[in-house]
Parts: sequence; C-alpha cells; structure tokens
Amino acid sequence: MRINIYGLGYVGSVSAACLASEGHRVRGIDIDRDKVDSINNGFGPVIEPGLSELIKAGRAAGNLCAESAAAGDADVSMICVGTPSADNGSLSLEYVLRAAAQVGDFIKQQSAYHVVSLRSTVLPGTMNQHIIPTLERHSGKQAGRDFGVCMNPEFLREGTSIKDYFNPPFTVIGQLDARSGDVVAGLYSTIEAPVIRTDLGVAEMVKYAGNAYHALKITFANEIGNLAKRLGIDGTQVMKIFCRDDKLNCSPAYLQPGFAFGGSCLPKDLRALLYKAREVDLEPAVLRSILASNDRQVEEGYNLIRKTGKKNIAMLGLSFKPNTDDLRESPIAELVEMLIGKGYQIAIYDHEVSLARLRGANRRYIEHVIPHISSLMKDSIESAVACSDVIVIAKHSPEFVEKLKHVDGNKLVIDLVRALPHRTGDAAGRYEGICW
Ligand code: NAD
Repeated sequence: MRINIYGLGYVGSVSAACLASEGHRVRGIDIDRDKVDSINNGFGPVIEPGLSELIKAGRAAGNLCAESAAAGDADVSMICVGTPSADNGSLSLEYVLRAAAQVGDFIKQQSAYHVVSLRSTVLPGTMNQHIIPTLERHSGKQAGRDFGVCMNPEFLREGTSIKDYFNPPFTVIGQLDARSGDVVAGLYSTIEAPVIRTDLGVAEMVKYAGNAYHALKITFANEIGNLAKRLGIDGTQVMKIFCRDDKLNCSPAYLQPGFAFGGSCLPKDLRALLYKAREVDLEPAVLRSILASNDRQVEEGYNLIRKTGKKNIAMLGLSFKPNTDDLRESPIAELVEMLIGKGYQIAIYDHEVSLARLRGANRRYIEHVIPHISSLMKDSIESAVACSDVIVIAKHSPEFVEKLKHVDGNKLVIDLVRALPHRTGDAAGRYEGICW
C-alpha cells in the first residue's frame, strides 16, 4: 500500500521503517526539517536499536522517503504526532488536530477510497468528537461513505520498539466500519499476532487501560518492595515468587469490571498490611487507596438503584461471591444495609445463603450480626422478584440467568456482575450494567 505517515518521532519513524521493510511504499511527513533530512539520509531521527539499518534498507529499496508535506496519491494516512500534556494536565490535541486538518486537505484531492488511521494516544471520544469532524470539514467528504477511519493504538516501548512492532501482544483496530478496518488489518497481515477489531471508543480506551495498569503494577511492586525491605525481607524474591502464579496473580483473574470485593480475606489482609506499614513508618499510597475505592464501588451500585426512582428492589445474591455462603464483609450485604437505611423495600434471594441450609458460624453471623437482613430473605427467585420494580443481580449464578428469561420484561434490571452478557443498555433503560 501507499502510506503517508504524519509525525516521525518514536512511533512514526518506527512504523515508517517497519512498513517500508514489509514492502509498502511509505512517505514520512514531519514539520521538523531535521527529522525529514535524517530519514532521507538513511538515519533514524530518534535513537532506537535497528532503526537506522531499517531506514537505510527502505531508502535503498525505494520504499521510504520523507517530506514536509504530503504529495501525490496514497491509500492510507497514519497520524503519529505527539499528544502531550497541557499545563493543566489535560491532553493537548493541538498537534493531532493540525495533522487531521492536513490529512483532510489531502483527501479532498484524492479520488480513490482512502483510510485515515490514528496511532497517537487520544482519550475516548476524541475520534468521534474531534478527529472525524476535522477530517470531514477539511475534505468536504463524509467519513464512512467517502473515506475510512480507524483508531489503531500503538503499544511499542522505546528501546525495543522494532522488536515490539514485529512481535506485538496483539493489534487493536478500532474501526468506523468494516471497510476501514479491512484496509488497516491488511497492513499487519504478515505479523503473527491476534488482530482484534472493535469500535473506536474501545480502541481509544484500551490504550489508556494498558498504560494505567502498567503504572499501577510498577507502583504496586515498589510499595510491596519498600514494605518488604523495612521488614528485613528481600522484595525482589517476594515479587519473583508472586509472578510465578499465573492463575491468580498474573492472569485475567480479578480483572473483570463489576462490583466491589469483600469476603473474609481481602479486606482483612489489606487492613493488616496497611497497619504493619504504619508501624514501620511507611505510607503506601496506592495500597491505602484500595479500600476507599472499593467503598465507592458500593456507592456506585447504590447510585444506579437510586437513579431508577423505584423503591421495591429484588436483590439476587447476598454472599460475597458465587459458590459460598460466607457473608463476612459481603459488599452486597453492605449495599442492602445502605438501601434499608434509605427506606427501600428489599427482597433477597441467594440459594447458597438460604436460611434453611445455613449452619454453624454463618447461621450465627446472620442471626446475630445481620438479623434485619435475614428477615428479608425469600426462598425462591420468583417470590423475591414478584413485588419488585427493580431486579439487582449482585452475584453470578446460572439459576439467575435461566429464571430471568421468564421474568416480566417491564421490570428494570441492574447488573453488577455482567450476569447477562447478551444484554446491553437498551433505549427504554430496562437494563443497566455497573461498568458497561
Ligand atoms: P514524538 O514527540 O517523538 O514525535 C511526534 C512528531 O510529530 C514530532 O517529530 C513532530 O515534529 C511531529 N509533528 C507534530 N505535528 C505535526 C504535523 N502537523 N505534521 C507532521 N508532523 C508533525 O512522539 P511519539 O513519542 O512518537 O508519540 C506519538 C504518539 O504516540 C503520542 O500520542 C504518544 O502518546 C503515542 N505513543 C508513544 C509511544 C512511545 O513509546 N513514544 C508508544 C505508544 C504510543
């Protein structure tokens, strides 16, 4: 393909060199004359292992050139310009919008179908609210009909960017429509990695989720390491062993957005760790913020219910997670208490916590610690749901999914755990998820 790449910094120059090495005809465009000259002289405009070699080879093969403006024809325009922080911390769109305007002017002259692919990191909504309108204004054409648009976030790391380009974990293509996505997917047909095609907003957000998570992981490891050292323990050893657990620690486990955590271990152990940190004069800010954030997730659930304006609630689930009757520190019990305090009528169904089955410690807990909640329990979904206007699904259970198929469609459903993956928010507002 003939590809124009706007911005020849880390992302743009590496993309240009790698795409040229794959046989595409690449024109790099930068407002910085030094970067343009450097590519045309066969050198990397930034320091990256292997970059100059690839650029030299691309120049020799006649597949790569650099200029300060687009010319001729092209099939794809890739925007790779910077999106720095503004003084107030917000994302500056200054460069990316200027580049989008140039691309719009360029596609005004193009008679063939052209696809614009954004590789710069931009916040969710930017494509629809800013980039596409700018492209349309400058081209006089309509996105989706006259030209294609994709958001193709870049995940390379400086220092290993060429290796990362050819061995990515995946390629994410947010597409305005299938035709746009097909063109961008074609650029990566030789790379052995899953290509994930999604909508523009998800692609924009995935990039931020990744970077926020990387930052969180570094800080988490540092906080555990600092505490370990204060306690005379080798933090490196701790995290090395920690990372060997690829079932729970380094895995998709616990990475599904939904309701708050609870139970007899996580809150207790986090509190104990924080108390210990205080004893050795440490302030692990990230670890300390976890419980407060978890409390806010319970409030988030409460707010969803409050906004319905209804007062009769069926709560499906009470114990802190599926397949247990353990009620200690259940965030669902906390949510129920919040609702009772605000005058809601609650009916609760949880097969695992059904009073008839409870014995020993859990029976004592429910009778002595939360007797007001036990009196609200029903022995079937049907009786819990019968007098309710809103059904809150607070825990996973195949029984809920099956029985809810037959429930009156006018009742509102609030899903805190993505129990009904086939349902999404509908125009009538009869289904709402907590994080989707
Ligand atoms: P950079 O600052 O190294 O390069 C940006 C280039 O764009 C500069 O050479 C600048 O002169 C050029 N430019 C600005 N306006 C232009 C215009 N109108 N036309 C042509 N060129 C123009 O930036 P970078 O580090 O390559 O990052 C680019 C984007 O990719 C950012 O949004 C960044 O967040 C994202 N990203 C960066 C990395 C990374 O490791 N650096 C990784 C993934 C994603």
